[in-house]
Amino acid sequence: MIRVTLLGSAATLSGPDSDSIYLLIQSEDGCYLIDCGGSPPHKLARAGAELRQVRGVLLTHDHTDHIYGLPMLVQSLLLSNWSEAGLIVWGLRETLATAKALLDLFPLVDRAPLDLRSLAPQPDYLALETAELRIRTTPVDHTRPSVGVRIEGVRSGRVLAYSSDTEPCDGLRQLAAGADVLLHEAAAIRPTAGHSTPGQAGATAAAAGVGRLVLVHFEPAEDGASMLTEAAKEFGGPVELGRDWMTFEL
Ligand SMILES: [Zn+2]
Ligand SMILES: [Zn+2]
Repeated sequence: MIRVTLLGSAATLSGPDSDSIYLLIQSEDGCYLIDCGGSPPHKLARAGAELRQVRGVLLTHDHTDHIYGLPMLVQSLLLSNWSEAGLIVWGLRETLATAKALLDLFPLVDRAPLDLRSLAPQPDYLALETAELRIRTTPVDHTRPSVGVRIEGVRSGRVLAYSSDTEPCDGLRQLAAGADVLLHEAAAIRPTAGHSTPGQAGATAAAAGVGRLVLVHFEPAEDGASMLTEAAKEFGGPVELGRDWMTFEL
């Protein structure tokens, strides 16, 4: 069974109970992170995962809130009984350049067995396939090159899609098509380049025919009840606000 946990659910301005968004995937084949926010060792321990189980981290884009924990993750792995297989770091070419520059600020790269893998900027790119898990990426429309992520349970056939940061776009609708769960950013109060409103997230959920919509990547001060109302005007299925430590089974 695959478990996906929201280690954070908020946007950059996080709150007392919500950290910047990133996801943990736990599977029999190891653990993978989607983006990397603060305190990875603490978050992994709280989620019941061990550092040495971490096989890779997929960075959706290079905005601070999505990558700032990467040096801490690598440092923590170096201090633990880390698998000799090393750490795979996936990202678009631009994202990997920023990640490398960030890691170069610390004396980590030479000591850490990192396997940097470029994501092709094409729809439905298969980044990882194991006996249990598939991870696909599709470019989305943000202010930086960014990909949405589709996580598929091979045995269950269940799918969780994560928008990353994006305005409404065809790529995202394709990525989320038929997903059981869509984690969709809702950072914008009104239509804004590079981000989505709760209503736009609802419209994407409806167009993609998803089973359930979870709004994420919003500031804790936002009016959650209004966000849900706005999304529900567009999407007839269940809509919730994302919370840190929410889990989804695939
Ligand atoms: Zn963001
Ligand atoms: Zn962003």
